[in-house]
This record gives sequence, structure tokens and C-alpha cells, in this order.
Amino acid sequence: MEALQQGTVLLVDDQPANLAVLMNLRTYGYRLLTARDGATALARAVEQQPELILLDVMMPEMDGFEVCRRLKADPATADIPIIFMTALSDTTDKVKGFQAGAVDYVVKPFQFDEVVARVRAHLTLHRLLTEMEMLVAARTVELQQANATLERLDAHKSDFIQIAAHELRTPLTIIKGYTQLLRRDATPEQMDRIAGILAGVERMQAVAESMLDVARIDEKALPVHLRTTTLAEICRPVLDDLALAVVERNLTVTLAVDTTPPFNADPVLLRKAMEQLLSNALKYTPDGGQITVQGQVVTGNGNGPELELVVADSGIGIDPAVRELIFEKFYQTGEVAFHSSSRTKFKGGGPGLGLAITRGIIAAHGGQIWAESPGYDEVACPGSRFIIRLPLTSGGVP
Ligand code: ADP
Repeated sequence: MEALQQGTVLLVDDQPANLAVLMNLRTYGYRLLTARDGATALARAVEQQPELILLDVMMPEMDGFEVCRRLKADPATADIPIIFMTALSDTTDKVKGFQAGAVDYVVKPFQFDEVVARVRAHLTLHRLLTEMEMLVAARTVELQQANATLERLDAHKSDFIQIAAHELRTPLTIIKGYTQLLRRDATPEQMDRIAGILAGVERMQAVAESMLDVARIDEKALPVHLRTTTLAEICRPVLDDLALAVVERNLTVTLAVDTTPPFNADPVLLRKAMEQLLSNALKYTPDGGQITVQGQVVTGNGNGPELELVVADSGIGIDPAVRELIFEKFYQTGEVAFHSSSRTKFKGGGPGLGLAITRGIIAAHGGQIWAESPGYDEVACPGSRFIIRLPLTSGGVP
């Protein structure tokens, strides 16, 4: 029992005198097998699966290098560590041994203690490696299963988003329709209240629309209608929409996109993306801050020129740890308790879909979007930059 625990070692040498010395390994508890030529060694290795092989270099018929190469070429024996036994003077043999796949060598005449130490070290190493490989394999299976479960849950979530958005759409249209009817013969006092209801309904419709967009993006089913457009055509209406909030919040907004050439894109989708980026810039910049939107043509990464659009703000900035996470759907850095659904109020949070939709829209155009910021600081306000790169020549991916 003890002997088995120490491991089985195959000794390969054509000289009986050498084998006789190595047989002393038995006193250390190893189970020993012997072979006096290459062919027998190969057969024993396959049948008995030793944990280690001590292999002589110089043997008639098949030398140690050839035996080593064949052992390494056979999947049944490839993992068994091999220690070469070479003559003291022969440096080239050592190199050739390692090239053939050996893990170590011992020199003849043997220093027996050294042989024992090397055998023990390589057996331990090999066992640890095997254990580690098994652990990694087991963990990989666990991870694959966990991943499959997460993918299934994510698919359920997308389905739920889509169904919920569809279910909300019809009643919202009905509420809006009746409210518009009420407006016809409303008193001035009622008008105010009706305007409030309509604003609320429109906000809910926008959220439902975002939910549908995100579900389409998840299913890679976002329809893209390409036509020639310009950054100015895309950005201006968005800024016009936000003009009132910009004044109320005392913000300075600069738009510098006029020098960029026309390009092929879906202006409706890109406007949606810009709406998200600009309303975020407003939300996360304190009153009196600056927002700039700048366009330029840049050299792409080997695929021709690209159109770069940068939305920069002087706001609270983004923690580097969440710079990528903010593009995930439903991601929010703030506490839900402080959630406010204003589109333009300072730090007013939305449903956490804006950047996921924006990235989906940019990806559907064959482009990229990422965020840069020195960090998150509500007092120093280091600001954030959102950079979009769109292919100029290809006109986007339909
Ligand atoms: P939300 O509906 O919460 O605005 P988004 O997907 O638009 O969702 O943004 C996700 C998160 O990214 C936000 O909750 C906010 O923490 C962060 N964020 C987005 N834009 C900016 C910005 N310009 N400055 C600082 N933080 C930002």
C-alpha cells in the first residue's frame, strides 16, 4: 500500500548494472518496472501507465531520444514525465533530451541521493499539475453551466422587457387620446393639469419605447435605414429640444460639427443616441457647467477614415471601475432611493437604458462608443467624455 502511494516508476536501461543501482529506489517506497530496450519500454508505458520514466540515452536499436519522442507522440503516454540518464560529459545530449520532451536529466555515474531527490520532485510536481488541471477542468464546467444559466435568464429578461413594453403601449395610447379629448373643452385651470398628465404619459411612452429598443438590440434586430446625413442634421434638433433645460440650468452648450463631411447613417437612430448622451451630459453636470459636442474626421484603425464625435461635459465624472458597466442595461451608479426620473434635472436618474441603447445603435452602424473620465467627484467635477467612432467610407453596416 505504502509502495503504491509513492508511485510507479519505469526504469529503462540496457545495462543490468545500472538497473541494479536504480532498483534501490524500492527502499523509498516506489513500485518499480524495468525495460532493457526501447520497444519494451514503450509497451510497458502504455500497459502500466507509470507516473514517471527514467530513460537511458544510449541504447542499441532504439535510442532514448526516439523512445521519448514516441512516448510524447502517443496521447496514452504523452503526459508521463521523463527524466533522461546521460553521461556526465555530454552537453548536447541534455539539450536533445529536453527537445525530445524530457523534464530533467540525471548524470551517470549516478549520485543516488540526487536521483531520489529528482524523482521525488518531479512526481510531486506532476501530481500537483494533474490536480490543478482537474480543478481547472471542473471549474470550467461549472463556469460554462453558470454562463448558460445566465444567458437563459438574460433571454427571459429581454422577453419580459419586450412583453411589458408592448402591454404598456396600448393603455398609454388610450390615456393620451382621452386626455387630448379632455383638453378640447378644458378651462384654463384644467389645462395646466391636463398638460401635466400629457407630459407624464409622454415620458412613460418614451420609457416603453426605450424598453422595446433595448429588446431589439438584444435580439440584434434593430432596423437601420441608411441615408446620407450630417452630424449637424443629427445634433441640432436634439439641442433645440433641450434648449429650455439648458437655459434653466444655466449651462453653456457648444456645438462644433459643421466641418465634418456628410456620411451614410440612420439619422433617426443616431438622433436617439445623441438624445441619450446629451440628456446624460445635462443630468450629470451641475448648474452653470459646460457641455461641448465636437465632430472631426480621424484616421481609423486600418479600415479607412472615421467620423469621431465627442460629447464632453464638466460634470461629476465617472469612476474608472464602472466606465464599461454603465453601458450595460439597467446599470445605475446611484442609489435607487435617490432616483428621480427627470430627463434634465441634476443627477436625475433614468431607467438605466440610455447608454445600452446608445451603444447598440452605434454598434448597428459598425461603430464604437466608449467613455473617458478622470474619476467620479461631485465636488471637483472632473467631467466626462463620450467618444463615438463611426466608419466614414463603408457607410455603416446595415
Ligand atoms: P440612466 O437612465 O441612469 O441615465 P444611462 O444608461 O443613460 O442610464 O447611464 C447609466 C449610468 O451612467 C448613469 O446612471 C450614470 O451613473 C452614468 N453616466 C452616464 N452619463 C454620464 C455622464 N455624462 N457623467 C457622469 N455619469 C454618467
